[in-house]
Amino acid sequence: MVELVVQKYGGTSLQTTGRMAEAADRIIKETKRGSQVIVVVSAMGRTTDDLTTLAGQVSSCPPAREMDLLLSTGEQVSCALMAMALKAGGVEAEALTGPQAGIITDFSYGDAVIKEVDPEPVRSRLKEGKVVIVSGFQGCPGGHEVATLGRGGSDTTAAVLAGALKADRCEIFTDVDGVYTADPGTITGARKYEQLDYESLSALAELGASVVHPRAAAAAEAWQIPLVVRSSLTEQTGTTILPGTWSPCSFPVIGVTSETGLSSFSLHEGADRREIGREWKNGLCPWKAVQHVKNRLYRIVVRNEEAPHTKSLLSRFGGRPDTGRALVHVIFRSKEEKQKAGSFMRDLPYTQDCFMVETQPHVWSMDVPERHRVNICQALHDRCMEKEAAPISAAH
Ligand code: ASP
Ligand code: MG
Repeated sequence: MVELVVQKYGGTSLQTTGRMAEAADRIIKETKRGSQVIVVVSAMGRTTDDLTTLAGQVSSCPPAREMDLLLSTGEQVSCALMAMALKAGGVEAEALTGPQAGIITDFSYGDAVIKEVDPEPVRSRLKEGKVVIVSGFQGCPGGHEVATLGRGGSDTTAAVLAGALKADRCEIFTDVDGVYTADPGTITGARKYEQLDYESLSALAELGASVVHPRAAAAAEAWQIPLVVRSSLTEQTGTTILPGTWSPCSFPVIGVTSETGLSSFSLHEGADRREIGREWKNGLCPWKAVQHVKNRLYRIVVRNEEAPHTKSLLSRFGGRPDTGRALVHVIFRSKEEKQKAGSFMRDLPYTQDCFMVETQPHVWSMDVPERHRVNICQALHDRCMEKEAAPISAAH
């Protein structure tokens, strides 16, 4: 049986034409094994940031449609170059933009959701024996339009294409060699998962572990596509996410993650939570976390972009914003495991100006000053790993 493999290469894996040539070699090797290959590419290096800066130089408020037209070019550059590199290496390849590849999205420019994939454009080229290179992070909302999927959206393109074309696996090539219990770049002692289940990957992705986009994790789960997260710089096997697998480590904590770019609001005494909730729903401005402490003081955490809107929404409750905040999360396997662990996070250093907040039932979260984020994550992760030495229970 010929295997169908989707390989996605992120920005760091395509930073230079040299890196691109290395990725091309890897793709060629996969074809020599007899596989059919679909390649999804991100923009080279920091291209998306650079294009955003350019837009900011001509407009303080760039129109969403033209912004997407601009940003989608980053992936198209990678895509065209990759097809050229493969052809130069003697492999038949064809480059497609997201719309050309049959990726249909909704009209939410800048954060579009993939609604449907027409598998034909990719399938017909595979049948011709070609490697198909698809520009990640984009699709067609209708007509001849192009919309982007939000930052990090190329992962989603890869997982959704893998699902729609019933691929045997989807490999995400990035700059880390797998999924870890914490960010291995900043946290000493972070441990790599050899295998992981979809639910745990989604929990990590949704709460700031930037290794895979949360929508990609959800798509892989929906289609039950085996997902492999690995480094393009090494031959390490990475982390495999498979239906029905479980990590050999039956530790109650999945990982320690954090989210940055947040603002927090403290609301004065007497603010009625239900009333705030109503205000919130009407304003369509979801909070990321909320704290309800004894003295009826509320703490509400939102993304920086939502801070001005939130401020006007909460003005009658006396909300004032506190910027430069981050959320740190300890993600447990279940609500029960979180309860069992009880107060093991007490007595941490850096508790000044930190607030325990509610996010999800199986997650222990704290609203902290951004500048202490890494130290606090480290302390929490150390604490969790101490516990692992004496496992609390064999979950799952
Ligand atoms: N180039 C886009 C970004 O930087 C999409 C991606 O890399 O997945 O966010
Ligand atoms: Mg990414």
